[in-house]
Amino acid sequence: MKGYDLVIFKERCHGCGNCVVACPVNAQDPNTWGGKGSKSEDVVIRVENGTVELVKPELCGGCGACVEACPVDAIKLVVRW
Ligand code: SF4
Ligand code: SF4
Repeated sequence: MKGYDLVIFKERCHGCGNCVVACPVNAQDPNTWGGKGSKSEDVVIRVENGTVELVKPELCGGCGACVEACPVDAIKLVVRW
């Protein structure tokens, strides 16, 4: 079991896709590059209808790249313990 949760704050997100592109798990899908996320279900996050969505949070490795990439603090890693 992971010791953290990936949490998104949709009310802050403006859908730029920076987090989607920065994520190394998403990057394994070539369709993610330069976009807002692939239609594959094997991505952690993608932009849908203008805001970021969690697709498969269980794939998240907790690296924090998405957190660093977000200009408006709309994505966080919250430690559970
Ligand atoms: S913490 Fe790392 S692995 Fe998890 S969604 Fe963000 S960039 Fe991807
Ligand atoms: S969470 Fe941040 S980096 Fe990701 S799409 Fe929204 S505004 Fe952009």
